[in-house]
Amino acid sequence: MASAPSSDDMFDEFLSQRGHDVDQSGWEESYNKKQCPDCGGLHESTAAQCSVCGWAPVR
Ligand SMILES: [Zn+2]
Repeated sequence: MASAPSSDDMFDEFLSQRGHDVDQSGWEESYNKKQCPDCGGLHESTAAQCSVCGWAPVR
């Protein structure tokens, strides 16, 4: 079975390529806050868009 990588292996590879956590909406996360992937601004978890640069996640 050496030629059949498990889904866990593929997920680990995906994470290593990204290098950080990104939630489903597109926000990056840092210290339990949302972080704008565009300008890096930190926002409360309730934020719907970035108040710094105006970025919003694609819905
Ligand atoms: Zn921003």
